[in-house]
Order: sequence, then structure tokens, then C-alpha cells
Amino acid sequence: MVWKGKSFICPRKMLPFFSDQKADSDQYRVSKQRHFLQIRFCLRRPGIRAERGLLLGNMSHTYRHILEYLEEWAPQSTKLEYDNVGLLVGSEDHEVSRILACLDVTPEVVEEAVAMEADLIVAHHPLIFRKLSRITPSDTTGSLIYRLIKNDIGVLAAHTNLDAAPGGVSFVLADRLGLIEVHFLATEEQPKSLRNGGNSGAGPARAVRQTGFGAIGKLPEPMDVSGFLDLVGERLGSSGIRCSGNPSTIHKVAVCGGAGSSLVDEARRQGADAYITADLKYHEFFSGSDAFLLVDAGHYESEVPVVKALCDRLRDRFPDLEVHHTAVDTNPVRYVFQEQPQK
Ligand SMILES: [Zn+2]
Repeated sequence: MVWKGKSFICPRKMLPFFSDQKADSDQYRVSKQRHFLQIRFCLRRPGIRAERGLLLGNMSHTYRHILEYLEEWAPQSTKLEYDNVGLLVGSEDHEVSRILACLDVTPEVVEEAVAMEADLIVAHHPLIFRKLSRITPSDTTGSLIYRLIKNDIGVLAAHTNLDAAPGGVSFVLADRLGLIEVHFLATEEQPKSLRNGGNSGAGPARAVRQTGFGAIGKLPEPMDVSGFLDLVGERLGSSGIRCSGNPSTIHKVAVCGGAGSSLVDEARRQGADAYITADLKYHEFFSGSDAFLLVDAGHYESEVPVVKALCDRLRDRFPDLEVHHTAVDTNPVRYVFQEQPQK
């Protein structure tokens, strides 16, 4: 339970109609009043302490619990060196009952979190990435942090550590494309403590946690290039796809959500007929073989499926928390198609 201003925020299981992604604001207000009365009633009845304890105990999640869960799935030590992940705004001891998940923390997403009285934003891209010299409302990142703190909303980022995790960004992308027999495209091995499931390496019993980048698998049935590009566009909601190469069929497919140009050669080396990634430069489209389809499906499009996966996992692990997928399309890229001029 979280005390916010003059009202209680209640967990979803006590307020079933909260499960809608965009709950109506009147419903929030009425339900909060109703729940406030329920709690006052419980507190006044003698012998009801156990019920009260159960009631309050069920609600007592903090940012730390979310961090610990993400540490099991996508340990922060697996992030790339340049990255900034974990709790970026807020205190680990802050209670949480409502989470908003997104790819990017934009002003629109922050306003969405404020409107729904979320306690925590869980994002893939870090809000704080470059060094900040001040936090004031006069610059973009500073104004967002300022607004978040004023509204008591924390921000947690799982970025390259989520890219590197089994079941992370690229696996979700592979799943969205319907690939089977999926495994990491490039693997790394990290020591993992058997005792706590973390990767601190502490303790005598140690196992190896496999992490990596990108994923590779197969289509259930081979497809031609045209059908495959239609599939990619449809499954990822891409408005425009850039590609090079024209193999006769596509069966083995490698993917890497986000900027994955560094894995083009690895995808080819492992015999992929196609590689789906994003942020490719002009010269990188010269892959050296017409029998290899190289696809830039868009950074947002190739990564946004992980937000739903994140929501699903958090709901499974914390059934008494409300977890909402942002309703904001944060893709800053627009595609404009024009008639080709006569040459
Ligand atoms: Zn990204």
C-alpha cells in the first residue's frame, strides 16, 4: 500500500477493474475512496489484526523487490561497459503498487505515469545515459527527472543487461517472428551463484550463466524474400523496412533487437539466410553476398516487443502489483513515402 497525498493506491487484485490498461480516472477516484473505507473498517474492528497484517503484507513491495527480480533475469553485471542500468531515480525502499513499463521515458510517458499515479517506470532505454551536470526544468532530461521526483515516481532501466539475458530483447524478437530452435547468436559465459541465483560469484557452489547478444533460429517453413519481408513488417508493425540481398529462400534467421550491425558477420558465419536488426549504415548494407538478406526493421520496432514480455514477467512474479504497458508510441522516427520522380 502506498500513501500518496490524501489517498490510498490499491493493488490490482483488490480492485479487479484496475486491470484495464487505461483505467478511467473516475474509476480510480471512486475505487480509492471505497478501499480507504475498507481499510478504516478493518483497523477499527478488534481481533482483526491478522487480517490487517495480511492485507498490508500483500501490498508491501518495494523497488528493491523489482530490482532483485530483474537481477535474477538480467543481472546488471552483464550490461555493456558504457551503459547505465538499474534504479536511476528513486530509493530502493520506496513502496510500489503500480508500474508503468515502456521502451523510452519520454515526456508523454512521464505524464502518463503521473496521470495513473504510477509508483515506478520500468524502461528499456536509460533515462540518464550521459553525464548530467544539473537537474533543472530547463533541459529535457532534467525536466523529466524534476517532474518524476516531484510526483514521487521512480525509474528503473534494464538496457544492455536485458539485451544479454536469456529470454531478453532478441529472444522476444525471435519469438515475435515465429522462429523456432532459438539460441544466442553470440554467447558469453558468466559465473553464477547457485545459492542465490545471482551472479555475484560468492559462495562455493558455482554454475555458469549463459548470456549473449542476438539470437538465431529457423522459420517453421522456408519462405521467399517477399513473403518474409511481409511477415517482418506485419509482426513488427514496421512502416518501412530497409534491406539488401535477395536469397532464393529464407529458412535460418538471425536477429538482434536494436543496433546490431556488429553481429552481421556472425550471422553470415552461422549460415543465416537473413539477419534482422536496426540502425544499419549505408556501407553496412554491402554484405558481400546477394544470398544473404540484411534487414533494418527499425530500432523501436525491433525492441518494443520486449515491453510486453517485461509486463508479462512482472505480472507473473508479482500478481498483486498493477503492471501497465505504456499506451504511448515513443518511436521518434516517421516514414514518409513519396512518388519516385521521373528520371
Ligand atoms: Zn535500443
